[in-house]
Formats: sequence, C-alpha cells, structure tokens
Amino acid sequence: MSPPADSPGLLRLRRAAPLRAARGYVIGVALILVMMTALVLGLSRQHELERAKRMLLLGTELASRHVGVLLRQADSITAALAQEAERGAVPWRDDATLMDMALRLSVDAPQVLELRLVDAAGATVVHTLGGRQAEAAAQRADEAFRFHRASQTTATRLSPPRRSAASGRWVMPLSRRLSAPDGRFLGLVIADLDLAALGAVFDSARLGDGAAVGLVEQGGRLLLRQPFRPDVLGMVMDSRSFGLADLPVEGRSFEARSPVDGVHRLYNAVPLPAHHLVVIAGVDPQEVLAPWRRSALIHGSIVFLLVALLLALGQRLLGAITMQARIGGELQAANRRLRDMKLALDAHAEVLITDVGGRIVDVNDRFCHSTRAERAELIGLDHRVLRSGHHPPAFYRQLWRTIASGRVWSGEMMMRAFDGISYWMDTTIVPFLGPDGRPQQFIAIRYNISARKEAESALARTMQALAHSNHRLKTLVAHDALTGLASRREFDRALARELRRALRSHQPLALVLVDLDHFKRYNDHYGHPAGDSCLQAVARSLRASIQREGDLAARYGGEEFALLLPATDAAGATRVAERLLAEVEALALPHAASPAGIVTLSLGLAALQPTVASPDAAARLLQAADDALYQAKRAGRSRLVVGAAPALQAAAESGS
Ligand code: GH3
Ligand code: MG
Ligand code: MG
Repeated sequence: MSPPADSPGLLRLRRAAPLRAARGYVIGVALILVMMTALVLGLSRQHELERAKRMLLLGTELASRHVGVLLRQADSITAALAQEAERGAVPWRDDATLMDMALRLSVDAPQVLELRLVDAAGATVVHTLGGRQAEAAAQRADEAFRFHRASQTTATRLSPPRRSAASGRWVMPLSRRLSAPDGRFLGLVIADLDLAALGAVFDSARLGDGAAVGLVEQGGRLLLRQPFRPDVLGMVMDSRSFGLADLPVEGRSFEARSPVDGVHRLYNAVPLPAHHLVVIAGVDPQEVLAPWRRSALIHGSIVFLLVALLLALGQRLLGAITMQARIGGELQAANRRLRDMKLALDAHAEVLITDVGGRIVDVNDRFCHSTRAERAELIGLDHRVLRSGHHPPAFYRQLWRTIASGRVWSGEMMMRAFDGISYWMDTTIVPFLGPDGRPQQFIAIRYNISARKEAESALARTMQALAHSNHRLKTLVAHDALTGLASRREFDRALARELRRALRSHQPLALVLVDLDHFKRYNDHYGHPAGDSCLQAVARSLRASIQREGDLAARYGGEEFALLLPATDAAGATRVAERLLAEVEALALPHAASPAGIVTLSLGLAALQPTVASPDAAARLLQAADDALYQAKRAGRSRLVVGAAPALQAAAESGS
C-alpha cells in the first residue's frame, strides 16, 4: 500500500520549515557578524581612548616635572643673584662682581635667556645680554615692577611672555624682589625665560598634532601655550569651569572645549604648587581615534562585504531551496497524475516497451496475461517471437519504416501467445526520440480486439450469405423457373426502361408476343410434364432467335412469351420473328392434337418510336402486339401479324 497522500497544507508546511530555518540561519549569522564587529570596534575604540589618556597623563606629568625643574633652577639663580645684590652696596651701577656672577649663573641655565637687575628707580643696572634697555620710566610702569614694589613677598613671580627688547625673542620674565634689611624696596632680579626652551619641553611630550599644552596661573591666566600662539598669551580662562580652582596634587583629567581654539579635547591638568601654576595638556580625541577610524573603516568595509556576500549567497540559497521545493511539489503532482494515468492505461491496455533493436525492455501485467508468459520470461526477448505469421513481410516493413522515422504507427495486428493461440490487437506504437532526433525506444499500447474481430468476421460471413441469397432471390424473381427466361416482372421493368431509353435516343422499340397454338390440347394429349418440356424447347428457340445485347426473351405467362427488341423497327423485328417461326418449325415437335401435326406459334408484332413521354406507352404497345396476335390466331395460327404502330399521346395532352 502506498502511504496516504499528504494534504496540500501539510506539504506547504513541510516545504516552509527548512526555508524558514535557512532564512533564520543566514540572517542570524549576518547579525552575529555585525554585532561582533561592532563590539570589537567599540572595545578597540575604548582601548585607543584609554591609551591616549595614559599617554596624556604621562606626557603631562613629564612636562610638568621638567618645567618645574627649569623654574626651580631659575628660582635659585635669581635667589643667588638677589642675595649677592642685597649684600652689596647700593647703588650697583657698573658693579662688575654682580655682572660676573649673573653671567656665570646664566651659562649653566640655558632656559634663562637673560638675567637682569633693576634698581628701585627702574634703571637696569646689570644685564647679561647688555643690549638695548627699556627706559626706566617704562620699567617702572611694568606690572611685575609695580607688584614687587608694593608686595613684601620674596617669592618669584612669572609675568606673561613678551618679546625681549634685547634679543627680539619671546621670553617669560621670572622676577624676584630685592629688599633692604629694613624691608625697603631695592629693585628686582629678573630672569627672562626662553619660551622656545619651555615650548621644547612641552613638545618633547609628543602628544600629537592636535594636542595643546598650556602653562596657566592658578587664577586662570594663560602664560604659555604650545603650539605657540602669541595672541592668546595673558588671556584669562574661567578657572572654575576649567577645573583649576581646587586641583588635587596628582592632577585631574577632564573633557572640555578649548577657549583658545574651540577644539573639544581630553585634558589632564597637573599643578606646580611651588609656582602657583598648572600645566594643562589636551589631546584631540578625533586625532587620537584617527588610526582607529581608519582601521574601523577597513574592518567595517570587509565585514559589510562579507555580510553582503552572505546575504546574497543566502538569497540564492533560499531561491534554490524555494525552487527545489516548488519543483518537488510539481514533480509529486506530476508523478501522481502519471501514476493515475498508468493505472488507467494498465487497466485498459497492454503496454510493451522495446529498445531500438526490438528487445523487450518492459511489459505490464495485462500484456503478460495476453501472451500467457511471465514478465521475467519476456524481458530481454526479441518481440518478434510474438508474431503470428498472419501478416506479410511488407506489413512489418511498412510499420518499421513509420516508427523508425519517428512517426506513430497505428493499426490492427494479429499476434501469437506463448501457448500458440493467435489474437487480434489494436496497436499504437509510439517512438520516443533521443536528443539526436532518432528513436531510442518504442512504446506499444495495445488492446485486444479479438472479440470484435470475431464479431466482424461473423458479420462478414452473414453478410456474404445474405448477399448470396439476395442474388438468388433476385435471379428467382427476375427469371422464370421453368424456362430460365426473364420473368414477367423482369419483362415489365425492361419494357418501361426501354421505352424511356427509346424516347431519349430517338430509336424505335419492337415487341413480339408469342403464343403456342392449341397448347391446351397438347397438355391434354401428352400430359402436363411433356407440356413443360415443350415449353422449355420453345424457350431455347426464343433465346436462340435473339442475338443483340439488349434483346430480351421473357416468359409472359402460361404458354405465352415475349421478345423485346430495343433499337429495332417493325422490319427488323419481323426478321427476328420469322427466324423464330422457322426455328420452331425446324424443331418439328410432334403435336398430334393440332391440325399442323407439329408445335406451331402465333406471333403478334408491334413497334413504335416514341416522340413524347406517355404514361400508357407500355400498355398501348402491349395492346397493339396483343391485337396483332389475336389477328394471327383468327387468321389460322402458325403465323406472324405485324400490327400498326400505336399512336402515343403526350402526358400533358392525355388528360381524359
Ligand atoms: P390457342 O391456339 O387458341 O391458343 O389454343 P390453346 O389451347 O393454346 O388455348 P389457350 O391459350 O387458352 O390454352 C392455354 C393452355 O396452356 C392452358 C394450359 O393447359 C396450358 N398451359 C399454360 N401454362 C402451362 C404450363 O406451364 N405447362 C403446361 N404443360 N401447360 C400449360
Ligand atoms: Mg394462350
Ligand atoms: Mg395458345
């Protein structure tokens, strides 16, 4: 038993399940790929930022320490010079000792570009570079000068950078108060720090092109900025918002927008408490992340391509699966149809499949049944073993020519089963062509028509018998049984037919009526069977007297005969009639009861040539011949009387 057929819904479900799984798989893999990439990129970004922060921390720390060292060195130089100056006698103008000391001190500190000593009046008394000096009045107006004159503090103080009048280079003055023992203001010692040297310290932190390093007073005043921007030096930043107000010793990291160039940066600020300064360094996260962005772009592109490839392949795969599912469904449906058709075919017909060589490849059960053979016996055999020998070789040649040329052959064929019994099959042979257009195998579909053939031949036999008896009947009806001459019925039909023909062909038609004389007496004298024999003898003479194809001798009734002579006029008919008279007379059949002593005939002849179609032409001709016969009897018998041609009236005229 075959399994129960699946419902269409169940089939669809079965087809849909792997499809959904495949789609889910492809999308899942693509999603995982994208998510993993995002995760990795996010982590590496984080890592890059952390690394940048660490580098920033380190760089700021190093820079602040380095700057601290430089400042402390400058501090101690100014302290030493101040001590010497405060110890010496005032005024110090042209004091060689101080000048020597200043020169000596500044040689060891390259960051100190020039070392100056300014007296309480603002006059420069010692100057290591010795170039053009600022006016005393201008010096007095200087911010640092005024600060130290007003303040008692002995700590150094940094002023915003400016361009040195002596060297023309950017310097940042570091100043210290000179005090008399009673605290009176004596002047200033100023170490002009080389901005290039300080900037080099910041540069050595190597924080990147977008980085910025600043030296800021705790109050927020910007003293130095690297990259160098002279225009922003001295600007005051909001120290609270910039986180400078309560900076811990170890410094602090934060993110802010730079008030100098507006760039958003990651900052680290480290205090220099000794000088009330803060070193702030910032890196541009965009710059920091640039390499990461590049690699992220490359990675992202690769993953995008991979995902696109995956989706495209998945799409094709899904298409293929869908297609396969559809084809599978169609195939199943087609198979079912084919199976049904095969069932129907097997139930009705015999199927035989042969290869091109005529070897049996397959047969169905009905075929086995008809041939009285097992399937296994038949397979591999040459199909010709089933030939009955009924058909001539030409039949098979014509069949083979048809199917070998790729056409279907249909016909009836007698076959012989293995048990020798022949049977008729209605056969259709279909050649199946290969790619080269030539037959590869033949499928013969047959059904048994033996019963029909039997019925057909029985019918044919019956038909033949019927035709035969019909013919006999016709002969019987058309011929007189005793004499074999045409019957009266046949004579009547011939007369009507010949009249029509005579009218058509404008030819005459003659009729001779013949009556045996005193035949009643003959019967009485010789007996009825002798009478019959006499009639047969006369009939032979009648048959002998006519020679033309169309002439007809008939037994008109009893011992009366008729000769119908087409295309014959009265004269011609007279010759025939006289020949008949002479013939019978020559027979000299004895007739003892007749005055003549032999059998004699009386003949009445009438002929006509019809010119009009007349319905009573036959009757009139018969009447004319009969009248003539009557006259022959009256005139003494054994003679011929030629009657007058009857007058015919046209059908339209004979209305009465
Ligand atoms: P008539 O010369 O006037 O013709 O005299 P008839 O005796 O021949 O007169 P009719 O024609 O009246 O006689 C017909 C006879 O022919 C009657 C019958 O005995 C005979 N006859 C008719 N048919 C047959 C037949 O088939 N066989 C035989 N043996 N005799 C027949
Ligand atoms: Mg008669
Ligand atoms: Mg007679």
